[in-house]
This record gives sequence, structure tokens and C-alpha cells, in this order.
Amino acid sequence: MAPLPFGRLDGRRAFVSGGARGIGAAIVRSFAGAGARVVIADLDVAAASELARETGADVAGLDVSDATAVQAVMAQDGPFDIVVNNAGIDQHAFFTDTTAEDWARLIAVNLTSVLACTHAALPAMQAARFGRIINVTSEAARLGSKGGAVYSAAKGGVISFTRSIARENARFGITANAIAPGPIRTPMLEQAVAKGGDKILQAMTGATLLGRLGEPEEVAAAALFLASDQAAYITGETLGVSGGMGIGG
Ligand code: NAD
Repeated sequence: MAPLPFGRLDGRRAFVSGGARGIGAAIVRSFAGAGARVVIADLDVAAASELARETGADVAGLDVSDATAVQAVMAQDGPFDIVVNNAGIDQHAFFTDTTAEDWARLIAVNLTSVLACTHAALPAMQAARFGRIINVTSEAARLGSKGGAVYSAAKGGVISFTRSIARENARFGITANAIAPGPIRTPMLEQAVAKGGDKILQAMTGATLLGRLGEPEEVAAAALFLASDQAAYITGETLGVSGGMGIGG
């Protein structure tokens, strides 16, 4: 099969978790605009439905940390050529102030969901001898974070998992990569700023080399590239989209 032109995903079927808003919504818009048929998998069915009307995507209302629900949606709406594991939740608290319930929820939504969606999608990808897995992690996974230890741990697990999936599935023509955003202007970040104030915002932008927040569309551009035929020789990588935050300094 001839490769699709740069930036095109015509005919590809994509599953985007957490696609109703923020980074996920930008990925849905970008993939739909590139010709993919997209399923928005999100808890927030109202927001997902509004975006579906705008983009022509389909909606699956589910908790992606629920492996049984994920399996059912993949069986009904799949098979998928592209899976973007983007859904996530954060928490702003020192580790000593967190509870076992917090750990369970953060790990379920940020890590177990990635396992569940990948597990359900891989058999069809292996049969098709083509697939793109794109996992949204965070620079907090690589750098650690003060006030987000469990989130960072879960996101670190996503990076390790991505590498293992890349190793196990290269022979099937499947690539697996991660994207590590820095501070991106989304409802998640706005909620953190509403709680922590301008000091948090200044700390976040100050940690980047470029001295500004990123936009969801800038993360979506990386996802579109990794999903494209032109990224066929890239696997097991974690791509920072973080204004240079990832190189430290
Ligand atoms: P957001 O909170 O703005 O949007 C997240 C979306 O995921 C929402 O639509 C929400 O309904 C959905 N979602 C949450 N839990 C779900 C579940 N269990 N099942 C299905 N859907 C669920 O978040 P965002 O800022 O767009 O973040 C997207 C991803 O990027 C997350 O994995 C996040 O950890 C990561 N990230 C974000 C930033 C940032 O600064 N915004 C930085 C680094 C990493």
C-alpha cells in the first residue's frame, strides 16, 4: 500500500480517549480534519457529542479505566488503526497528604486505562499488520513533580509500557510512542491554576525554555505526525511537547 501523503489519515479509524476536551479534543479535530474516522471515548458524553457534531466523529461514553467497558466498545466500534490513550486526571497534593483511594484512582485513570485500551485494540492491529499506539504521558513522568508524585509515577509507567509494547509489536508493523506534554492550556491546567493561583502559572511557564504555556493544537500536531505513515520508523520513543522543559536547566 502506498503511504498516505504527509499529514493525511484518510480511511484510518482512530480511537481517542479523553477526546471530549483539552488535548484530546484538539487531537480529534486534527485527525478528523486529516480524513480519519474518529471515535471519541470519554466520560463526558455531552461535551463529546458536541465535538462529534462539529467533526463528524462518533462517541463512546465510558470510563476507560474499566477494562470490560473498553473491551465492549472496541468490539462494537473497532477495529482501530490508531489508538490515542490521552485520558488522564491529576492531583495537587504532597504525597503525605494523599490516600490509598487517591493512588488507586490516579493509577486507574492514568495507567490502567492505557493497558485496557491497548490490550483491547492490539489483536486486530496484529491481524492487520498495522497499528499506531500513541500514549499521552507528561514531562512530570521524566522530571518528577512536587505535589504530584502519584500522577508522575503513573505517567512514568506509561513510558515504560510504551517501550514494551513497541518491542513486542514491531514485528506486526505496529508502532508505540508516547508524547510528554509540558504545561498546556486546557481545562485540567486551568483547574490547577484556579486552585493554586498565579504562582503555579508562573512556576509552570518558568520551567519551560520558551517561557509560555503550550496550546492543545501543538500536542495534536505531534500526535498527527506519530499517527502518520511518515512516522513508520519511529517507535518506543517519548516526544516532549513542552517548550524545552524536558531537557532540564
Ligand atoms: P482535561 O482534564 O482538560 O481533559 C481530559 C479529558 O479526559 C476530559 O474530557 C475527561 O472527561 C476525560 N476523562 C478523564 N477521565 C476519564 C476516564 N476515566 N474515562 C474516559 N474519559 C476520561 O485534560 P488535558 O489537559 O487535556 O490532558 C489530556 C492528557 O494530557 C492527560 O493524560 C494529562 O495527564 C496529560 N497532560 C496534560 C498536561 C496539561 O498541562 N494540560 C500536561 C502534561 C500531561
